[in-house]
Amino acid sequence: MSDTFDDDQQWDSLCKQCGRCCFEKLEDSRGRIIYTQTACRYLDVITRRCKIFERRFEINPHCVKLTPELVPQLHWLPPDCGYCPKPEKFTRKASRDRRKRGRGK
Ligand code: SF4
Ligand code: SF4
Repeated sequence: MSDTFDDDQQWDSLCKQCGRCCFEKLEDSRGRIIYTQTACRYLDVITRRCKIFERRFEINPHCVKLTPELVPQLHWLPPDCGYCPKPEKFTRKASRDRRKRGRGK
């Protein structure tokens, strides 16, 4: 996956800067992720921007650096995160699979 991204800037541009991943999450007994209303102390909840963006890994050891290698292994990113597979790609693949199986249009 990493060879599809020429540089960090291209990779970073996928982030929608929604700030959703910067809220605390809980995992229930079935492994489902529940997003809480509690934001990271460094998130500006109005602009949804990180207040310490340039130094976030230095200041907050819990902040996770998202990389092309790491993202596929994470199960807690919201499904509409810019780093996750695009829903239309998934839909197209799903309908192709249905066609192969002789179901659907
Ligand atoms: S430190 Fe990390 S988790 Fe906290 S607001 Fe910044 S980017 Fe989000
Ligand atoms: S959830 Fe995804 S798109 Fe939104 S801020 Fe976090 S990394 Fe960026």
